[in-house]
Amino acid sequence: MSLNRRDFLKSSAATFAASIAPLAAHAKTTKAQPHVVVVGAGFGGATCAKYLRMWDPNIKVTLIEPNDKFTSCPMSNWVIGGFQTFDALVKSYDNLPKYGIKMVKDWVTGVDGEKRLVMTKSGKKIAYDRLVLAPGMEWATESVQGWDEAYAAKKVVHSFRAGPDTLLLRKQLEAMPDGGVFLIASPPPPGRCVSGPYERASVAAHYFKQHKPKSKIIMLDGHFDVVSKGPMFKAAWKELYPGMIDHRPNNMVTAFNHKTMVVSSEFEDVKADVVNIIPWQRAPKLCKDAGVRNDALDRWCGIDNITYESTSVPNIHIVGDPVLSNMPKSAHVSNNQAKICAAAIIDLFNGRQPEPVPVIGSTSYSVTSDKTSGAIAVVMRYSPEKKVYERQPTGGANPLHSELDFAYGQSWHDNIWADTLG
Ligand SMILES: Cc1cc2nc3c(=O)[nH]c(=O)nc-3n(C[C@H](O)[C@H](O)[C@H](O)COP(=O)(O)OP(=O)(O)OC[C@H]3O[C@@H](n4cnc5c(N)ncnc54)[C@H](O)[C@@H]3O)c2cc1C
Repeated sequence: MSLNRRDFLKSSAATFAASIAPLAAHAKTTKAQPHVVVVGAGFGGATCAKYLRMWDPNIKVTLIEPNDKFTSCPMSNWVIGGFQTFDALVKSYDNLPKYGIKMVKDWVTGVDGEKRLVMTKSGKKIAYDRLVLAPGMEWATESVQGWDEAYAAKKVVHSFRAGPDTLLLRKQLEAMPDGGVFLIASPPPPGRCVSGPYERASVAAHYFKQHKPKSKIIMLDGHFDVVSKGPMFKAAWKELYPGMIDHRPNNMVTAFNHKTMVVSSEFEDVKADVVNIIPWQRAPKLCKDAGVRNDALDRWCGIDNITYESTSVPNIHIVGDPVLSNMPKSAHVSNNQAKICAAAIIDLFNGRQPEPVPVIGSTSYSVTSDKTSGAIAVVMRYSPEKKVYERQPTGGANPLHSELDFAYGQSWHDNIWADTLG
């Protein structure tokens, strides 16, 4: 059953009608068929393009993406753990044109915000009335001395963008001798999928327990603790993998020597057999060049929390991981932001005040083995007074993993893929 725009917005803020600010004056577009260009067909971009067309078939939507197929980061750790095939992560874009979306296979090289033009690698110039940037993340590999050289030598991958590197990391684990050390280094916050490295440690331990029981996992963690689903992960590791996962918090990696396989942090040097460094992240250079990567640290894109329009360049909206906010950087949040943005763009084209109190939901499942998972559910409601999304008191994390949450997690994946691409 598809959710119509009215149902979605009702779930956003019906009970907050009394606090709605006076309607702002929004100029209705004079165009017969306004054109929205969406860059990136990931969880944010594909969802936004699809819901724009579902909720207002009068809008012309062009979706630009270089890849023929979608590859999912959610579930990619299962492949690294050896209990899922890589093919299960790969999904078709074939349904999107059925909504009337024009798919363009290309790479966007630049944006001219004044002329409202998008430039592509193949030489196209595409005009827009509104642009949605959803290009995901860029990795600050220069923050780890030696990373680029090690990557070229195929000695290190972050595998935080699903694709060939997912399989390379899996092969490295398969080739590792029993008794070897697998080192995972995660960056300090904020970043994509904070629970991802802890899930990765769990699936590696699951694999080692069966095939290389003398092996060890060292986590050099830029966070002060196991910050996502912490009690659940710690209990699961104690129960399933005692002594196997050595978690070292507040330990940010600064360098890697691929010839000696030594990883250096601010505090120690660690030699490992397989190294998985996840460098810290930022909105891609495309966002910087477009003038929308505009926070003080030159990392994220400031947005209006109601329309997701850039705070620095009009008519450019940003959804997904590049957004500056206190929301988790996840597929679920990107998908929700995309719907709020689509609804706001439709309102703006029609001279209406967009929904002033949007609500974001985020459910996240992390596997601890091939049969068990932990879960967290969070609801965040925008506070017009405080101008931030506030976490609501309901929801939270399950302190224990379970087979039931594993089953729910499988359904969550099927649902998010169907909602984004189906
Ligand atoms: C191991 C792992 C596990 C995860 N598990 C979960 C989970 O269980 N639940 C969850 O909610 N989230 C999870 N996440 C996080 C989730 O994958 C991301 O937060 C999500 O993919 C962000 O969506 P996005 O649309 O912003 O970016 P992406 O999904 O990265 O999509 C960006 C798209 O833009 C395209 N693109 C980039 N630049 C350009 C350009 N210049 N021109 C044209 N196209 C471009 C890319 O090709 C890509 O298709 C996980 C992440 C990892 C790494």
